[in-house]
Amino acid sequence: MTEAAGDRGDLVRVNFDFRRELAEKIEGDLASFCYQCGACVGDCPAATYSDEFNPREIMLKVLYGLGEELLVKDSILWQCTNCYNCHERCPQEVKPVEVIISLKNMLADRGIYPDPVAKIIKTFEETGRTTPLNAAVDRQRKRFGLPPMSPVPMDEIRKLIEPQDSAREAAKE
Ligand code: SF4
Ligand code: SF4
Repeated sequence: MTEAAGDRGDLVRVNFDFRRELAEKIEGDLASFCYQCGACVGDCPAATYSDEFNPREIMLKVLYGLGEELLVKDSILWQCTNCYNCHERCPQEVKPVEVIISLKNMLADRGIYPDPVAKIIKTFEETGRTTPLNAAVDRQRKRFGLPPMSPVPMDEIRKLIEPQDSAREAAKE
């Protein structure tokens, strides 16, 4: 006799709320097209050097709507280097890297990120750049015949990041 679905402890229930929340962060519900072929793993530097990181497994969690398991302190998501190799390998054009970036953004919205990321956020809030400019950068640009970097419109950037800051503070409370 077939066991009733409600009685089976090993059943995974798809959390469509999480899938919908993620789909709002990226254009289209890309994750739905993942058929778990594993092509994204073969050329992934993070998977090569880490026993924990596997983009196919991340996509499987997302497919089940179990992304909350990834949205934790010291998440493996931060091991992704954003190299886009998985994007080039994926036959389904799922763009796993963009799914992972969106998950990282969800972590950042909740104020959960490692110290190096906190440092980058602080630099960006102060200078409008993720790495500060210095004389060496100017020298290198001159050497390659490039013009000096344009000033950053900090007023506009502040208008954009202030609502994000408030949301992040609220998420921490
Ligand atoms: S994301 Fe693409 S490459 Fe990776 S398992 Fe899914 S379909 Fe395959
Ligand atoms: S972008 Fe991230 S998941 Fe994709 S191949 Fe590079 S390190 Fe791996």
